Amino acid sequence: VFNFSAGPAVLPESVLREVQEEFLCLPGAGASLLEISHRDKLFVEILHNAENTLRSLLGISDDYSVMFMQGGATLQFSAIAANLLRGTDKTAQYLLTGSWGKKAIKEAKKEGKVVTAYDSADTNYDRLPTAADYTCPDDAAYLYYCSNETIQGVQFGSEPECPASVPLVSDASSDFLCRPLPVDKYGLLYACAQKNAGPAGVSVVVMRKDLLDIADPNIPGYLHYKNHHDNDSEWNTPPTFAIYVLGKVARWLQNDIGGLAKMEELNREKSQSLYKIIDESNGFYKGHAQTDCRSLMNVTFNLPSEEMTAKFVSEAGSHRLAALKGHRSVGGIRASIYNAMPREGVQALGDFMTDFASRNSG
Ligand code: PLP
Repeated sequence: VFNFSAGPAVLPESVLREVQEEFLCLPGAGASLLEISHRDKLFVEILHNAENTLRSLLGISDDYSVMFMQGGATLQFSAIAANLLRGTDKTAQYLLTGSWGKKAIKEAKKEGKVVTAYDSADTNYDRLPTAADYTCPDDAAYLYYCSNETIQGVQFGSEPECPASVPLVSDASSDFLCRPLPVDKYGLLYACAQKNAGPAGVSVVVMRKDLLDIADPNIPGYLHYKNHHDNDSEWNTPPTFAIYVLGKVARWLQNDIGGLAKMEELNREKSQSLYKIIDESNGFYKGHAQTDCRSLMNVTFNLPSEEMTAKFVSEAGSHRLAALKGHRSVGGIRASIYNAMPREGVQALGDFMTDFASRNSG
């Protein structure tokens, strides 16, 4: 079955096979990875290797800390505001371009003053701002955006304009590792793993080190980034299995794919093949996102009616194309085609879409 789920999502088959082979007995350990201490030198090496592979893939310099945390991307909604906003009289500025940004704002408001500098709710989050559409004061605590809104399928092509004095913060959960990133432009970026990077249970936080000391030390210990940084992500028991698999996915990206530029090329090819079918369907399929901000990862589109959508999902299922139903706030179809979705899966979906449109339009 080709799984188009928005997450947890497909993992590279070679990684799953390697994990299966090592599952009962991790080489060198005489036991399963699930059974060894997070302080065991074998696991510490796995953790360091995962970090180093991410550093190498993304070109992350020593000015940045790379941390592995639990609590999903959702915990970061609170952690960011607790570290960078709580106790200051600054404002946190948010670019609201979809459902996940909205949730982040709700949590940040519990920590301090939040300004929604841009909001595309009026058009059901089908577009992204240009620099002319918002302002951000030079003394803001940070400017926050979500680089890829998973539900709406809108993705920033490059970083939004941000004053040099203001840390840029990104929720990169659903497009992390889909392309190279200029990490130096960020104060902090984070991603839960369960789309492009590994299994659910771990989130990666990449944070400029000078920001680690801003937080009031009285914030809850787990939220305090400095605790995770100072203890090499072992302030408490980290999600060992998820980090182990994440390390293997990162290595797959580096060795089998050939790096993030190559990955981006493949992702463009895969997503464009589906957008082309949408654009050439004479209005049978209507893309949700405006064409200039279409996501490489989550292809969202509507059909002429709810009945037709239900028929599409049901027939797709019998063609072994799974989890295509769109989120209820957008309706229609969402095909999530993360890094590990093979070309053949996208090709099978494209063939099905073309055939379905020809049988049901007009
Ligand atoms: N942010 C984005 C962009 C997401 O796609 C998701 C989950 O789908 C989240 C945040 C929330 O992640 P989690 O369920 O790990 O808290």
